[in-house]
Amino acid sequence: MLREAGTEPPFSGEYVDLDDEGVYRCRACGSLLFASDTKYHSGSGWPSFFDVASSDAVVLRRDPSHGMVRTEVLCARCGSHLGHVFSDGPKPTGLRYCINSRALAFEPAKPDDTQRQD
Ligand SMILES: [Zn+2]
Repeated sequence: MLREAGTEPPFSGEYVDLDDEGVYRCRACGSLLFASDTKYHSGSGWPSFFDVASSDAVVLRRDPSHGMVRTEVLCARCGSHLGHVFSDGPKPTGLRYCINSRALAFEPAKPDDTQRQD
């Protein structure tokens, strides 16, 4: 379980600069959370997405810790802490999901099926 995981140091995560096509799943339970086509470089030092793979993939919770009020992002299926969401993201959502690499498991896109010979 990743429930006790805190925020990893910026620019330390394995997925910060990853641009490969694919999907990001919850490392704890495998639930599909984010897709590479909503990932962008926010400069924050954490993997950033402007949208989730589906609206019921995550749950949001008010987080008043550390002397500020933020919105915590949790896996809807297993409750693992994923990161936080901020309202300074790009269009069309205006959201920035700031997610810890270690909460995610990247799954590369499968090769184009039309190339297969079988
Ligand atoms: Zn999960």
